[in-house]
Amino acid sequence: MTAEIIDGKAFATRIRGQVTQHVDRLKTGHGVTPGLAVVLVGEDPASQVYVRSKNKQTVEVGMNSYEHRLDRDTEESTLLALIDQLNADPAVHGILVQMPLPDHMDSASVINAIDPAKDVDGFHISNVGLLATGQKSMVPCTPLGCLMMLRDTLGNLSGLDAVVLGRSNIVGKPMAQLLLGESCTVTIAHSRTRDLAEVVKRADIVVAAVGRPEMVPGDWIKPGATVIDVGINRMERDGKTRLIGDVDFQSVQEVAGAVTPVPGGVGPMTIACLLANTVTACCRANGLPEPEGLTA
Ligand code: NDP
Repeated sequence: MTAEIIDGKAFATRIRGQVTQHVDRLKTGHGVTPGLAVVLVGEDPASQVYVRSKNKQTVEVGMNSYEHRLDRDTEESTLLALIDQLNADPAVHGILVQMPLPDHMDSASVINAIDPAKDVDGFHISNVGLLATGQKSMVPCTPLGCLMMLRDTLGNLSGLDAVVLGRSNIVGKPMAQLLLGESCTVTIAHSRTRDLAEVVKRADIVVAAVGRPEMVPGDWIKPGATVIDVGINRMERDGKTRLIGDVDFQSVQEVAGAVTPVPGGVGPMTIACLLANTVTACCRANGLPEPEGLTA
């Protein structure tokens, strides 16, 4: 079997197209322009690339982008004051504080200072609780993108066996909640899981989010399973820095029914879902119907 390759880049382009249409409707029909504020503290090179890309795509879909850059040494109280200001600003519908923050800041306090209605990353404790209890929330962008790709590939997910590799707050746990919401039978595996290969082999759906290059080989995969590779590992290969997933793409491709590549799979979907969440937040703030197909 040669797996279908799930083209996250093309899918993300489709999502951005839908977002652009909604933004147009909000502007022309309701006089509202969705706005996303992105806050970057420090000069971490990877974070700078992400923030640049987020701002560029925000503008491309017709939304307002507000970029705030703070020095690495900024006091946490200054960042919290900026968040208060953005919470109160009616032109800002989504707020994203780029992680990681410098060591002297407490990420949880910073995230929980964001108005949950504007928390387009879906990391605020209220949104975590709402998702866990099956209520309307802001859903973290990476798992939301994975869910969209799974629905598009498989249709109804009800009753399928899903294994999520990784239990982080930003990927593994919300991914498992979303799959549970789709009525999958969900197993969360992690570094202490015994017989990992056997656990993975039972799954119709595998979502790998461990941060270990090519950890999942083809012989762990049930024939025909759908494999979503969240991993982004920067490695030197053939004298170049390359992005490598958590899945051994070559061997998995021979067994799986469908698989996402790295790069070009989950990565592009994450920013597309950030834009989708910002439109959703804008609609909710204005008491307007939410865009269909852009939420969980
Ligand atoms: P974390 O480091 O926070 O979590 C990794 C998880 O993997 C932990 O739960 C850990 O288990 C588990 N794990 C580590 N080693 C093993 C192992 N040998 N066997 C089984 N489980 C293991 O990572 P994140 O969730 O933040 O990210 C995971 C990957 O996804 C990274 O490569 C990251 O770069 C990528 N990523 C990609 C995004 C995208 O947009 N495409 C967005 C976010 C992340 P334990 O809890 O027991 O330690």
